[in-house]
Amino acid sequence: MPATNGNSLVNGETLDFRSATKVLQSEYAERDGISVKDLINSKVNGGLTYNDFLMLPGYIGFAASEVALESPITKRITLKTPFVSSPMDTVTEHNMAIHMALLGGLGVIHHNCSPDEQAEMVRKVKRYENGFIQDPVVISPKTTVREAKALKEKWGFGGFPVTENGTLRSKLIGIVTPRDVQFHENLDDPVTAVMSTDLVTAPQGVDLKEANRILKASKKGKLPIVDENFNLIALLSRSDLMKNLHYPLASKLPDSKQLIAAAAIGTRPADKDRLQKLVDAGLDIVILDSSQGNSIYQIEMIKYIKEKYPELDVIGGNVVTREQAAALIEAGVDGLRIGMGSGSACITQEVMAVGRPQATSVYNVAQFAKRFGVPCIADGGIQNVGHIVKGLALGASTIMMGGLLAGTTESPGEYYVSHDGQLVKAYRGMGSIDAMEDKKAGAGSKDAKASNAGTARYFSEGDRILVAQGVSGSVRDRGSITKFLPYLQAGVQHSLQDIGVRSLTELREGVVNGTVRFELRTASAQAEGNVHGLHSFEKKLYS
Ligand code: GDP
Ligand code: GDP
Ligand code: 5GP
Repeated sequence: MPATNGNSLVNGETLDFRSATKVLQSEYAERDGISVKDLINSKVNGGLTYNDFLMLPGYIGFAASEVALESPITKRITLKTPFVSSPMDTVTEHNMAIHMALLGGLGVIHHNCSPDEQAEMVRKVKRYENGFIQDPVVISPKTTVREAKALKEKWGFGGFPVTENGTLRSKLIGIVTPRDVQFHENLDDPVTAVMSTDLVTAPQGVDLKEANRILKASKKGKLPIVDENFNLIALLSRSDLMKNLHYPLASKLPDSKQLIAAAAIGTRPADKDRLQKLVDAGLDIVILDSSQGNSIYQIEMIKYIKEKYPELDVIGGNVVTREQAAALIEAGVDGLRIGMGSGSACITQEVMAVGRPQATSVYNVAQFAKRFGVPCIADGGIQNVGHIVKGLALGASTIMMGGLLAGTTESPGEYYVSHDGQLVKAYRGMGSIDAMEDKKAGAGSKDAKASNAGTARYFSEGDRILVAQGVSGSVRDRGSITKFLPYLQAGVQHSLQDIGVRSLTELREGVVNGTVRFELRTASAQAEGNVHGLHSFEKKLYS
């Protein structure tokens, strides 16, 4: 319809501006852009990565801070933010797992270490925050000041109730705190010489709210819970009130208030023994870590775990097709992990000629799994906030990141200066030769490695040839996760606001019912969407 002059658009007539949206609807049966089905159409568009498309803006009728990011990670467990750190030995050990959980996400502890080391990390996550501490470390009147100091070194906390027998459910006679022992000169004195005996306690059966009130009023650091005979039943710690205040989004179990702990294992027979240790340490979610999850080994492992540990949630994977997903859903998984070859340190697609572009994988698997109520993690290939939003829009409930988080303070390892003067940390694929050789040299155990120099070489000579599916490299410093994760969270909220949806649920519904629209990006569109034509610039992402 040719315009006759600047104002007239239809038949030479100027339309009432107040009817613009109605005119649009009457003239176009479909909304602008394309639907997700037209986007993820492998026959026409091939397999797509996150960079190959964009979402169109919608209507903003609310503040970005109102956008809700709650999302399930398994059938039973929901997180307040959809961020998960990968089970890799340069990404997630206990420190990362604790901070990911405090900030509302989840860190999955890697298994390139001995079962005991991995169980110890799970224990540290579970011990970090509590409601009632149901199994507090208790000492006896004969414990010396030296031993109490050593226990503080071991556990990281130094407030110990003293009971007659040195056990729980024995008569409480005092409490030793770090300040009691700090400057005490005779280390061989028993703790009875330094402990406090003017105890404020609460009776067994008290609820958490009331116990917290008593603890606050008492101005003490600890509140022992005792039965009618003054036997110690549990303990409450003031620092947990502070943790609760500082981290309102924390991923915690509703009753214990302990952080949710997740860890990865393999699917070999020895992994059953490893799992037992992790469960004993309090594990809540286990991820079966395999690059191709649709195997007889994984299916048998899922059935075994569901039978033996019905309380434990199992996430299977990795998968990239509906057929793979169907097999694991049928075996009983509580969640799925999607991705093959999209990771930043990954060469699977090149070496194995097997894999799938990540956007296509996420859509196909997540839409299928949704029908069975199985939440999916989009794993790998995340380089920025936009990629996170795209994974979520295509149906993933949560997003797993390796390389993006490896440069934070909370990841394992030390920073170093690279040859070009950048502050970096090591990051390696778990299928890199480096990581696989470490695993063979004593299950990656740091102790075993230290005492067995040369073991790796010995094993690699005698064993089958290792075919690498990953590389070893470094990533740049990203500061603390306590700043970086809130940046990701705020970024996702702003993005959803632009799309015009108030929550992840609304986003996924909008995608499926066709109100959230997409556009493919040509190569030049991608160039246009990036910084271009500047002489120089600094890419600072947040402040
Ligand atoms: P403390 O004063 O040295 O005992 O340490 P804080 O009060 O700073 O920290 C104690 C933290 O460790 C709290 O978050 C507790 O929930 C946690 N914790 C876990 N298990 C235990 C335990 O057995 N005893 C104590 N005292 N704290 C524990
Ligand atoms: P992936 O390369 O990440 O899949 O690492 P895995 O350790 O899961 O698998 C390596 C290979 O071992 C794959 O071919 C698996 O199918 C196979 N595999 C996994 N679990 C078992 C098991 O329990 N027994 C045997 N014999 N092979 C297994
Ligand atoms: P990133 O966030 O760095 O792009 O990807 C992290 C993901 O890459 C991990 O969660 C894991 O699924 C995958 N990954 C880690 N190491 C390797 C590897 O050596 N080979 C392959 N194929 N994938 C890996």
